[in-house]
Amino acid sequence: MSDDPMTKGDGAEPATPVELERYRGRAVLRRDAQALLSLELVPAEGEAYFVLDEDGLGALDDALRRVGRETAVGGLVVHGDARGFVAGADVGLIRAVTDPALAAEFARRGQRCFQGYADLPFPTVAAIHGPCLGGGLELALALDHRVASRDPSTKLGLPEVQLGILPGFGGTQRLPLLLGLPAALDLMLTGKTLDGERARRRGLVDACVPSSRLLERAAGIALSPPAQRRKLGLRDSLLSFHRPGRALVRRKVQKQLGQGPARFFLAPRRLLDVAILGLERLPEGAYEAEALALGELAVGDECKSLVGLFFERERARKLDRELDPAGEAAPVERALVVGGGVMGAGIAALMASRGVRVRLVDVAAAALAAAVGRLRKALDKRLRRRRLQPHEHQAALDRLEVSTLRVGHRRADLVLEAVAEDLGLKRRLFAEAAERGAGDQLLATNTSSLPLAAMAEGLPRPERLIGLHFFNPPEQMPLVELIAHAGSSAAALARGARLAAGLGKSPVLVADRPGFLVNRCLAPYLAQAVALVEEGVAAQEVDAVAEAHGMPMGPLRLLDEIGWDVAAKVCAVLGEAFPVHMQASKLFGAMVEA
Ligand code: NAD
Repeated sequence: MSDDPMTKGDGAEPATPVELERYRGRAVLRRDAQALLSLELVPAEGEAYFVLDEDGLGALDDALRRVGRETAVGGLVVHGDARGFVAGADVGLIRAVTDPALAAEFARRGQRCFQGYADLPFPTVAAIHGPCLGGGLELALALDHRVASRDPSTKLGLPEVQLGILPGFGGTQRLPLLLGLPAALDLMLTGKTLDGERARRRGLVDACVPSSRLLERAAGIALSPPAQRRKLGLRDSLLSFHRPGRALVRRKVQKQLGQGPARFFLAPRRLLDVAILGLERLPEGAYEAEALALGELAVGDECKSLVGLFFERERARKLDRELDPAGEAAPVERALVVGGGVMGAGIAALMASRGVRVRLVDVAAAALAAAVGRLRKALDKRLRRRRLQPHEHQAALDRLEVSTLRVGHRRADLVLEAVAEDLGLKRRLFAEAAERGAGDQLLATNTSSLPLAAMAEGLPRPERLIGLHFFNPPEQMPLVELIAHAGSSAAALARGARLAAGLGKSPVLVADRPGFLVNRCLAPYLAQAVALVEEGVAAQEVDAVAEAHGMPMGPLRLLDEIGWDVAAKVCAVLGEAFPVHMQASKLFGAMVEA
């Protein structure tokens, strides 16, 4: 963060708050000369962010009791530290709970605590900097006002549905009152997050200010709150507070939830019911229904699987530390990508937009022009959506350099090849990199099917060769297979993992075996689909059955998207490795020829 939100802005009299009490090492209550209370939330030892676990919630309860005993209070500001506000509820608790009654009781406990803050007789303000997610936003919603910092790290949202649950600390009840039912559902059903400025435009926060002025502004609002609360527009009022309006919203959302992958998920349906029930039962709301729904969802398979995925993703993000606990692996700041086709161009664009200087080399000038166009198009789109500042747009373009000459090995921290699937060619390129490079750079292949062992053979310092197998299109697909051959060093793998995580991907460590991980699973599935067609089952029927099972698209359409030539090659590699288990049908060859 550039400026510290904990210092006051220019010109303001530095108030000297007196510390009143600390709670479980997780919260500090202070009082200043203007009778303004401030409650600072502190992450647990070793954690980056404040989380609503047993102690976190306990500290909030304890602080509330003391706040209630203070006399002649001007207002209360709740804030985090320089890193964040509150990252959410403890996902570990959600993973562990198996009794719906216990989960519901945890929700009730959070609801009671936050209601206590909502009932305080003086103005209360959340000063939000960094993550303000899940239970964190529910706490902020229980306060009278919210101010956010303009820092890029600031993000507000209720991502619970992504874990198969719903907001259980009153969020499903308070958000519709603040934003209106349609906007509240949009946020809660997608789980998306908003930065400070977007949150202000949507009415989620009252103001968005530079982080250096956050506390000052929050204090200002607490001491002289605006006379009028923000009111919903006529349309949102009708859609929220009138039965026919709510019925309209319900029908529309139910239709959306009945389509695509959404139809397999229970949490969004429960969330819709509970949010609408709350509006039907005003002013009390439907807090008990929310707690019961959380209890039901938190012990279900859907939640446990999504929470499992969450932890796997977290683990992938930190895989470099697992491989290299001392943190010695040097970061990749400059890359040379050889081969600017479908994959190379995408990988280079991804790198450039994520801060890596990249030189992309291809024998075909047309491929290079297309690669630059690809990056520019993606950046333009983000600029239009205001996800990017103009100077960041330019900086990303400047980070991509293209050339038809294979030079620049010496300065590159990484040489990654994405040329055609030809072992001889790949071996020649790595030999060249070893000869021209500084000797300590990382060498990586994007091969889909060739053994790394064969590429490492005869290569000087083969321990630095790894596979970084991106999927098509690299900008979008979240997985990267981090492939280790028998001689790959932990340091090289850690560097690869760190790079992949820095590019926003989830690296998974896999062995140098046929098909690696994804194709090892995918190829038999595709081959079986083709076998069914050969036996006379209609292609449409095969796809329909797969889609009904939950696949985003059927295997035959997927084959068309991958390209039958590519798929045929992968199936052949696996057929050779596992002749008993897999024989690719002759239809592959016929399709490619046709
Ligand atoms: P592609 O044919 O689109 O691109 C290859 C590029 O390499 C071409 O632009 C070609 O001009 C260039 N090239 C060839 N020889 C070169 C040389 N000596 N020096 C510089 N450039 C050279 O291929 P692709 O689909 O991008 O696949 C590249 C690699 O990625 C392959 O190993 C493939 O198995 C793997 N891969 C592909 C996919 C996919 O879906 N296409 C997915 C994952 C991995």
